[in-house]
Amino acid sequence: MPYSHSQLKTFDECPLRYRYKYLDKIPEPHVAESPALKFGSILHSTLEFLYKTIQNSGKAPEKADLIIYFQSHMQTYRDEYNQLSETPFPVQEFDERMHLGQQMINRYYERYTPFTETKINGLEQNIIFDLPKGTKFRGIIDRLDLKGDTAIIVDYKTDKSIAPLSTFAESYQQQLTSYAIWVGQQYAHIAKKVEGKLIYLRLQQEITREITHEMLQQTIQKIEEKIAVIETTLFEYNMGNQEAFQPTEGTQCRRCAYQIFCPLWKHKFQDDEVLITEIGETSIKKLIDNFYHLSAQKKEVEEKMQEIKTFLEEYVQAHRDEGRKYLYGNEAQLRVDYKDEYKAKADQSEGLKQFLLEQQLWDLLSMTVKAKELTKFLQAHPEILRQLSDLIEFQQKVIVGWVKEKKE
Ligand code: SF4
Repeated sequence: MPYSHSQLKTFDECPLRYRYKYLDKIPEPHVAESPALKFGSILHSTLEFLYKTIQNSGKAPEKADLIIYFQSHMQTYRDEYNQLSETPFPVQEFDERMHLGQQMINRYYERYTPFTETKINGLEQNIIFDLPKGTKFRGIIDRLDLKGDTAIIVDYKTDKSIAPLSTFAESYQQQLTSYAIWVGQQYAHIAKKVEGKLIYLRLQQEITREITHEMLQQTIQKIEEKIAVIETTLFEYNMGNQEAFQPTEGTQCRRCAYQIFCPLWKHKFQDDEVLITEIGETSIKKLIDNFYHLSAQKKEVEEKMQEIKTFLEEYVQAHRDEGRKYLYGNEAQLRVDYKDEYKAKADQSEGLKQFLLEQQLWDLLSMTVKAKELTKFLQAHPEILRQLSDLIEFQQKVIVGWVKEKKE
């Protein structure tokens, strides 16, 4: 089976999805395509329509024809999306994409008219070639231009910004560069050099790079390394390791058509199980939801309790001279403990630790200084307390205990 960039990308994003798609060949249920990807592909096909018309008739279509082509494909996509999706395509987003696409076409048309800058040699061309280690690789070249003795592989981008160099080299450049192998082989008789050109439709910017022998070697090495990882995983899988292709959770899951099979998601699609328990009839899904609601309530209750506790501790602190041992409500009472201890000053805990280590007072330390033991020790060793005066501070604390039944 020949590899492709989209296969390598799929494996990078989620090996399990790769397995479902390319090994198990599970047909992907028809789901609504991502608006961003579809928008890009409709713009690609609009420009393909432009150049095919020129190739067939020798004449460019009118700008208005391109816009009609783009708009009608967007409308068809929106209708399909609305049929397949639970929620309809948002009206505002659709209008924005229509407007943006029209803007891009307008600008492209104005900039490149009369479209004679280079000779278009191929459009949406399916290619297949051998990598040095013999693996077959396939791809689609959006557009192949010839200009003098240079072959130019063109790709259109609808990105909002130009990717930083690392991403750029990893994805876009890698794709164009690898296709240069095929171009170099097929056009060796006319093309002395091969260039890669990315046309950013939104930004009206072109990036053109000569694809040198060195770039080609680096790209091939990266691709072959990725293929080696896939083949090792495949070998383990074939040797009986059913978990060799692991799921990777991420944004890619949102539009993954295999959620229904995936261990991370499949329970979502399974029928609920009714259970008879001591507290009556319930179900797994109900228990999960119940657990979730209770955890949320628990968190809320704990936060409220902490607020009250802090308030009461401050209250007792302010009336410390009364020496109260309990605080009483109408239904319950709270115990009050007075705890006086030495502890490190805010920015001195490292200094204090260091001091205790130097004094070989290991008992006073765990991973942090044990405040209770330290306090006891310092009360018994005032000479050390004096040495530590820059590192520690004395803090008087009040701790209110947990609620219990009111003592009669
Ligand atoms: S749902 Fe996510 S984790 Fe599962 S196979 Fe698809 S992409 Fe991978």
